[in-house]
Amino acid sequence: MSDSPTLRPTPSNQFSFSRLKTFHQCAFRYRLRYLKGLKEAFRSIESFLGTTVHDVLEWMYAQRGEGRSPSMAEVLERFEEAWRQEWPEDVAIIRTNEGPDVYYRRGREMLERFHGEAWAKDRSETLALEQRFNQRLSERISFTGFADRVGRTTQGVLFVIDYKTSKNMGDPSDFSEGPQAPLYAACALENHGDEVALAGYHYLRHGQSNWHDVDREKGRRLLERFKNMAEEVLDKTEFPAKPGILCAWCGFNHICTFAEVPEDFSGGRRLTEEKMGAFSNGG
Ligand code: SF4
Repeated sequence: MSDSPTLRPTPSNQFSFSRLKTFHQCAFRYRLRYLKGLKEAFRSIESFLGTTVHDVLEWMYAQRGEGRSPSMAEVLERFEEAWRQEWPEDVAIIRTNEGPDVYYRRGREMLERFHGEAWAKDRSETLALEQRFNQRLSERISFTGFADRVGRTTQGVLFVIDYKTSKNMGDPSDFSEGPQAPLYAACALENHGDEVALAGYHYLRHGQSNWHDVDREKGRRLLERFKNMAEEVLDKTEFPAKPGILCAWCGFNHICTFAEVPEDFSGGRRLTEEKMGAFSNGG
């Protein structure tokens, strides 16, 4: 197996919401990741926590689909197993004054709240989990992404929901909460032939959901806007760095000469340096 960090660049016409968001946050990072196909040297523990919690939620709904209803103890056991057994070497704790237990407890709390509240009340039907959407928007652009869950309410209304493990609940601006779930809802409308769908975010740390109505016309406008933004990015020839606090979470911060990583947030960079030191020492 090669040690090369180079992956195949993402096909130029495939645009996800996170691809556009990365461009908006730092065009230089976008260039390294999406155009040069470089792999980031680490992923943050926040990202690992999000993936692990999402996997447990997916398992819960899959179990329900098979007529089972996992108890809180089973859910927490599932989380603990994933957390303890699948700890990958590339996971970095960015905040140097925190340890992994902070995140472990946070994950447990989110799942406890979810199991006791939203899940207990939820009578909706699940149509798909981790549903991949891929919609051609123009000759040059396709929209792609994964929705956490697609279903129907007890009244039969189509919905798409995205589960969020972030602290902040987001605002409606383009790259915060933004149009991600509504874009998935627009695709779901096409796939299912419905006239209207609900697009929601459920904030696991707060136990709250935000819902937006998306009808055909709104869906069409959202996809058109996304296409225009993606085409603009596709035509860019310059990719300036935008250093800031997010550099601490950027897996290129060891090779980027523009990086600004405060000492208190240097866990990712340190992990990379340790790995590179071990590698050059033959470890
Ligand atoms: S370290 Fe900062 S400036 Fe450099 S690519 Fe990453 S986010 Fe951009």
